[in-house]
Amino acid sequence: TIPVIAVDGPSASGKGSVADRVAQQLGFHYLDSGAIYRLLAYAAQAQQVAWSDGPVLAQVAAEMHIQFEAGEIYLNGIAVSQHIRSEQMGKGASEVAVHPDVRKALLQTQKNFRQLPGLVADGRDMGSVVFPDARLKVFLTAGVETRAQRRFDQLIQRGEQADFNTILEDLKQRDLRDSQRTSAPLQQLPDALLVDTTHMTIAQAVAMILDAWKK
Ligand code: C5P
Repeated sequence: TIPVIAVDGPSASGKGSVADRVAQQLGFHYLDSGAIYRLLAYAAQAQQVAWSDGPVLAQVAAEMHIQFEAGEIYLNGIAVSQHIRSEQMGKGASEVAVHPDVRKALLQTQKNFRQLPGLVADGRDMGSVVFPDARLKVFLTAGVETRAQRRFDQLIQRGEQADFNTILEDLKQRDLRDSQRTSAPLQQLPDALLVDTTHMTIAQAVAMILDAWKK
């Protein structure tokens, strides 16, 4: 079977940067599953479908044509990375992601990324639902204040407006929504390697995962 490293964890934990670098180091493919939920939130908004409408969202999900190419993400042939990285689409993603029909509609799309020589997949349910047979499972996290500070710095760097306390409250809400939903909640699996990056650099987290992979 094609090897998979599943990297799950809460928002703004650094999962994306870490998982992407691990993939580069190993020459593996990389799946940013959060981007798929963000794409759905974006597509729904464009089609005036409410983020609360599970059955219709599942249809929209089934009709999305997604391509990841050289750092850009295409929805039905149109580059949309800029649009889906906003805080608003992060919120939308976490709202559309609660619907079991939606998760089911996106399952095969995610599994299709499992290609030779291997895959590093980041998200919330990579190790529990999408790739339960992953050879290595990682739970990557950091304290909520640290995550809020990182998100704040990121937004400022991009020249966007940001308020630390709003970001902190949004993160706490998203953590709750992600961990308390009934369908594929975010959880720390007993067989996952815990990587707490509160006092770690990206490079250190990457090294820790590569180490575990080689063992
Ligand atoms: O990782 P990212 O912040 O881009 O994910 C956005 C939202 O998408 C998360 O807050 C979560 O609710 C949802 N998501 C999910 N399952 C995944 C990846 C993301 O439910 N595998």
